[in-house]
Amino acid sequence: MAAIGHVAVGIAVARARRWDWRHALAFSALALLPDVDVIAFVLRIPYSAPFGHRGATHSFAFAALCGLAAWAWRRDSKLAWLVGLTVATHPLLDALTDGGLGVACFWPVSDERFFFPWQPLPVAPIGQHMLSARGGFVVAVEALAFLPLWLYALWPRKGFQRQCRPGVPSKPPITDRH
Ligand SMILES: [Zn+2]
Repeated sequence: MAAIGHVAVGIAVARARRWDWRHALAFSALALLPDVDVIAFVLRIPYSAPFGHRGATHSFAFAALCGLAAWAWRRDSKLAWLVGLTVATHPLLDALTDGGLGVACFWPVSDERFFFPWQPLPVAPIGQHMLSARGGFVVAVEALAFLPLWLYALWPRKGFQRQCRPGVPSKPPITDRH
């Protein structure tokens, strides 16, 4: 998948939790995190290896580990679930693509790669090949497929508009109590 669909998920999760650009960036990064394994191509680790692309970092175990790390950091179980589930959306969406190898979602129990029986999303070319006609097609399909999430995430909120309306202070005035 190109990044557009994963980022849409991350921004929508941020929107559901608390909207600000830091949350949007953080959850987008989490939704993209499993693709950190593209480093495997540089390290010449075979695609099909457990630590190759769509391998260990595309497992539910990795998503759970991210959730545990969030819990260890903030001691917030709701945040931990949200982090784990956001990361887990990545392999599920990749399993809906129509190319490459499947995702090793059950690693380390099994190295087997999986796809869903229905694969409506075109697989993205890797690296500079993304700048090809095929890359443009993938971006267009993903932009369309994830449009509802983008709309949900970016639709203006009433509260946000009230905060930003000129002449309406967002905080009560500070009074001098000498
Ligand atoms: Zn991926």
